[in-house]
Amino acid sequence: MYEEGGSLVTSQKIIMEDGNLKTPDHPTIPFIAGDGIGPEIWSAAKGVFDAAVNKVYQGKKSVDWLPLLAGETAYKKTGQWLPDETLQALKDYLVAIKGPLTTPIGKGHRSINVTLRQKLDLYACFRPVKYFAGVPSPVKKPENVDIAVFRENTEDIYAGIDFVSKSEGANQLLQLLKQNQQLDKVRFPDSSNFAIKPVSEAGSKRIVRAAIEYALDHNLSKVTLVHKSNIMKKTEGSFKTWGYEVAESFGDRVFTMNEFEQIKSKKGLSAADDAGTLSEYSGRLFVDDVITDNFFQQSLLHPENFDVVVTMNLNGDYISDALAAQVGGIGIAPGGNINYQTGQAIFEATHGTAPQFAGQNKLNPTSLILSGAMMFEYLGWKEVSQVIERAVASAIKGKHVTMDFARQIHGAEELSTSEFGSFVEKNI
Ligand code: NAD
Repeated sequence: MYEEGGSLVTSQKIIMEDGNLKTPDHPTIPFIAGDGIGPEIWSAAKGVFDAAVNKVYQGKKSVDWLPLLAGETAYKKTGQWLPDETLQALKDYLVAIKGPLTTPIGKGHRSINVTLRQKLDLYACFRPVKYFAGVPSPVKKPENVDIAVFRENTEDIYAGIDFVSKSEGANQLLQLLKQNQQLDKVRFPDSSNFAIKPVSEAGSKRIVRAAIEYALDHNLSKVTLVHKSNIMKKTEGSFKTWGYEVAESFGDRVFTMNEFEQIKSKKGLSAADDAGTLSEYSGRLFVDDVITDNFFQQSLLHPENFDVVVTMNLNGDYISDALAAQVGGIGIAPGGNINYQTGQAIFEATHGTAPQFAGQNKLNPTSLILSGAMMFEYLGWKEVSQVIERAVASAIKGKHVTMDFARQIHGAEELSTSEFGSFVEKNI
């Protein structure tokens, strides 16, 4: 229960029911302001969120923001980097938003973000990368970039299973390799460190399914599986195979490159071309695949050829930052970590804590603001998401920007973090 405009409002929980997210009119949404520049960008973003909800729903709906502690701020107050109450509240309230968190330094410490993703099984890291007119860019046609990246978030080399040379684990692993006649493949066995790369059928299939469902829901025409199957056949190669299996399980809503190749080998190229043309006319989603290095090249040369890309953890890490760099980079790219089965989700600024700028009220809150827009779309409050995006776009187009952009845009008005937040808020 909280007070709003002189009356008492009962806040409620967002829940998952029969596979659908149910958002009440006054949801409680936990937020972690974060470390470093986190509190500044959060304060700017929160003003924008409240103004947007108010504009769209005129008081009929509102958000009850619940502050949670994590990161260095939590450690200083509680001695824990990720307090148990924070984790419990994130589970209880299902959908949350966060600023950046300091990664603890020292033996045995893991990134809080990676811990959160694993503890809450947030298997899809979803990053839509698109251009806002006026954003400084190093490429000639940044407006051609409009790509939704789905990165698997819970396995691959990020599992953190690694062994230092000469440790018991490394020695046991060498023994295992010897037993399996694989030891010759290790060039310097005495001084090699090792990391294990788990890529599973279950993990691969659920992320590919999420990407395909997103593409179908948004009437997009293509999903591309990105992998390095030519080198890592058992892991990345299987990701491709499983990806096509999932795609083909969608029946006549999807046509795949795999099906195209099968028709070509049985009936010839023109029959395959005909099937491709027919599927295009009937509005079917096309699923194809590309080797990772080729993807980097193609996404610079012809980004317009990609709508949705889906890939494993490490590829996805590189790909999402490389694409974001084409459209303004770190201060503007939003992200969400989602489990589409349980509904659990955390939306977050994709940059770090920028500690050297903390307390200076200078950097760009757009990454967090747009992450909020993604969150409202996820909650089914699409109009809120749209008014936020429109207000951000108009501020940037009018050259009212923070320091990072002002330096690169001729004639720009340089605003502080809080001034930019207020500017966007007034334009809602
Ligand atoms: P960083 O993203 O904090 O900063 C790198 C540079 O990017 C900054 O110097 C700044 O020039 C620029 N930058 C960052 N945020 C910006 C913004 N909002 N607007 C404009 N420019 C911005 O990366 P780092 O310095 O490598 O990491 C600092 C800390 O943040 C580390 O502890 C790191 O582990 C952590 N980190 C956290 C997250 C997260 O919580 N999601 C992500 C990355 C890094």
